[in-house]
Amino acid sequence: MTQRPKNWAGNLVFRAERVDRPSSLQQLRSLISRSARVRVLGSGHSFNDIADSPGTLVSLDGLPQGVDIDTGSATVKVAGSVRYAELGRRLHAKGYAVPNLASLPHISVAGSCATATHGSGEGNGNLATSVSAVEMVTADGDVVVLSRAGDGDRFDGAVVALGALGAVVSLTLDIVPAFDVRQYVFEGLPVEVLDDHFGDVVSSAYSVSLFTDWRTSRINQVWVKQRLDEAGGSPVAPDLFGATPAEAPRHPVPGVSAVHCTEQMGVPGPWFERLPHFRADFTPSSGEELQSEYMVPRRHAVEALHALEGLRDRIAPVLQISEIRTIASDEQWLSPAYGRETVAFHFTWIKDYPAVLPVLGLIEERLAPFEPRPHWGKLFTMPPGTLRSRYERLPDFRRLARRYDPSAKFANEFVATYVLDDS
Ligand SMILES: Cc1cc2nc3c(=O)[nH]c(=O)nc-3n(C[C@H](O)[C@H](O)[C@H](O)COP(=O)(O)OP(=O)(O)OC[C@H]3O[C@@H](n4cnc5c(N)ncnc54)[C@H](O)[C@@H]3O)c2cc1C
Repeated sequence: MTQRPKNWAGNLVFRAERVDRPSSLQQLRSLISRSARVRVLGSGHSFNDIADSPGTLVSLDGLPQGVDIDTGSATVKVAGSVRYAELGRRLHAKGYAVPNLASLPHISVAGSCATATHGSGEGNGNLATSVSAVEMVTADGDVVVLSRAGDGDRFDGAVVALGALGAVVSLTLDIVPAFDVRQYVFEGLPVEVLDDHFGDVVSSAYSVSLFTDWRTSRINQVWVKQRLDEAGGSPVAPDLFGATPAEAPRHPVPGVSAVHCTEQMGVPGPWFERLPHFRADFTPSSGEELQSEYMVPRRHAVEALHALEGLRDRIAPVLQISEIRTIASDEQWLSPAYGRETVAFHFTWIKDYPAVLPVLGLIEERLAPFEPRPHWGKLFTMPPGTLRSRYERLPDFRRLARRYDPSAKFANEFVATYVLDDS
């Protein structure tokens, strides 16, 4: 008996019995036009059922994996299912980069942009903010292109679209000249330092991540990714607000070998080998973890941190590690950073959903005054009405979805519940 497909973490068995893999655009168009219900699966790294389909589940891995750089317009047109690891390698070989990357480079470009996947850096928007055009196959099999230049405001609803508008076959991304980065890890940042210096710490380099296991009154590690062209050649200070440089490479999870982490200790290297935390040449086929993440306005960062500290005894026993990052405000209707400079509180949990579930409820309760928006691709328990109330452009998105997918062919239970339902 064939096994039903699962997501990367293996915590979710998809309802679809198999994943269809068309090998040409024409095959994809005809598959979509004759399917009553269809969803596209990216690299399957989401932890909830956002990618699942009550009908056909389709992967675009079999389509041509184009990465076409246009130096004249400083853009790259990339096939939707290409992974960031491959995109990074190909861009760097030609002297280009995208401004930021997520912690893991093995995720697909279209799947990442669909959920507003982000890295860190107070001036860095989520990965979808680099997108200037999307090419998708819509419900009746048509190929539609929406672009920042040609579609105005509507384009802001088209990229972070949770797979609800169509199958994204390619994206055009703005690119920048390649740059080098060096990465340092500092240890033992006293939490109280953040009361007065949260902004100073997160703006101390191009991309900064704070890791804590909530067990002590210290932030375990601060990962500082410094652009060489911005740092003026000077190495990072020997002391970061009381945190001290790690003496050897570190993994964010205490006690785990750093062998799969990107190079640290200030060794300069290309952007695509330093901005992710994990190395591209190590491909984890499945994960012994669950994840959640809540985005709150950055002006509440310290209050939110203290609110979570009040739950240390509940969080720590079911946690592997937490990461605190910053994301620049953007204009994309369904982006958790829409209209607000953002701080993101991420949790990598042990793989025990029944034990984690009540803690999610507690976290959501404590963060409620700051109106958190959960990561679309991670686990949360927030009531649908509460989540929907956090997105003022949802009515516009529903209109966009009706325009390109009038029979809600690309909807599933997740999208219907959290987005399309307007009750
Ligand atoms: C180990 C790990 C580390 C992570 N690190 C980060 C991080 O640093 N920052 C962060 O923000 N998130 C992070 N995530 C979450 C992850 O980035 C998101 O879940 C992302 O959406 C995964 O991309 P995917 O290609 O696997 O998409 P999937 O999970 O396969 O799908 C996600 C959504 O995209 C849609 N989709 C996928 N491809 C297409 C397409 N071609 N056309 C239309 N719709 C499509 C799907 O239908 C679905 O709605 C991490 C996840 C893991 C497992």
